[in-house]
Amino acid sequence: MALTGIQIFKMTPKKNCKECGCPTCMAFSMKVAQGAMDISACPYMSEDALSQLSEATAPPMKTIKVGTGDSEYSLGGETVLYRHEKTFVSKTRYAASLDTQMDDVTADERIKSIAKVDYVRIGERMHTEMVNVNYLDGDASEKYMELVKKAAETGRCLILSCKDVKTAEAALEICKEAKPILNGADVSNYKEMNDVAQAAGVVLGVSGSNISELYDTTAALEKLGNKNLVLDVTADTVKETFSNAVQVRRSAIKDTNRTFGYPSIVNAAKLARGDKAFEQTLASVFTMKYGSIVIVDEMDYALALPLYGLRQNLFTDPQKPMKVDPGIYQINGGDENSICLTTVDFALTYFLVSGELERSGVPVNLVISDAGGLSVLTSWAAGKFSATSISKYILENVEDKVKSRKLVIPGKVAVLKGDLESKLPGWEVIVAPLEAVQLVKFLKDMQAN
Ligand code: SF4
Repeated sequence: MALTGIQIFKMTPKKNCKECGCPTCMAFSMKVAQGAMDISACPYMSEDALSQLSEATAPPMKTIKVGTGDSEYSLGGETVLYRHEKTFVSKTRYAASLDTQMDDVTADERIKSIAKVDYVRIGERMHTEMVNVNYLDGDASEKYMELVKKAAETGRCLILSCKDVKTAEAALEICKEAKPILNGADVSNYKEMNDVAQAAGVVLGVSGSNISELYDTTAALEKLGNKNLVLDVTADTVKETFSNAVQVRRSAIKDTNRTFGYPSIVNAAKLARGDKAFEQTLASVFTMKYGSIVIVDEMDYALALPLYGLRQNLFTDPQKPMKVDPGIYQINGGDENSICLTTVDFALTYFLVSGELERSGVPVNLVISDAGGLSVLTSWAAGKFSATSISKYILENVEDKVKSRKLVIPGKVAVLKGDLESKLPGWEVIVAPLEAVQLVKFLKDMQAN
């Protein structure tokens, strides 16, 4: 049961010393009750109070770590059902699929394709983070070992989907150092699978033929002392899978039912049964509701571009504009003699403009001043991207670092040209085209003249 602010307040030292960053112990207690602060932020809490409170005030969903090194990911740790309430914490990770029914050529092609999608969007790397290696009952376990070895060579975090205890144990011998997920426990084998997962020190995936069975098996695993779990909520139908995913999350967050307080796996590839367009729809739906890991057949650009864009929008803080830091960004080897361009610090604008500048191949200095993280016209209308703010930034931060006296401003704020020239004596202010995509030709023409 979650504690109220008053219940927490009763256990605080009531010093009102402000060391936790809150003005009073009551304010601190309210924040802890909302999940906005951790109880350990108060250095004066007694051992007894800490032990009573830390379990009761822990986030309703556990954060589970999988993988190692560059392929280590945190899953879960969510505190809300809806993104507008508070930021979602751990973004959905995507896994490509391999299974023992694939012939060698298909499996090799699938493995090669894993590295195909790899790009940066608004400062975030977009790639296939995981590989799901599926063992179909009755297949030769040697073939599974071969697949696991090949999948391990990709360096991606692995999901070993395997319900055969002996095969799972042998597969873990190949890759347990890389901390894969062993997704294999169900009502029939959970004790043995638990022993295998705990011996290897890896996260155990649990599934059930319906949500009650999933709950009971998870509770039984917790009784065995394993709280390093993920829940595979995939059922035979999309409807049941969706219902499972939502019920698990609601139960964890709204009812603080900690038995369902674990991250989840959804196998969109299995549900789509080879229909690519349907798989794309399902991957999007379960990114929103509430797959911590979504398994697809294969990640290609047609699937990745909308899916990663959706994920990036979901897993950003809606209360904070996405900004880049003010500064001079030298592009294509730009130096003190290169021309300056300026735009706003809104991350999407920055990455669009800098991408086009890179494409032009022309050395430039991209000057970013603080425009409140807003787009060009919005920040101009709000007075945050004005002749005064731009000229002040240039005079204080750019003029002594750059010899060129050419400044290109966005076409949408051409109206600033006259005012800027009067505020920046000695500078030639040039108006860029309206759209970023036109910058390549514009800069090449400028360079040629
Ligand atoms: Fe109260 Fe502890 Fe915060 Fe001090 S640090 S104000 S004692 S809750």
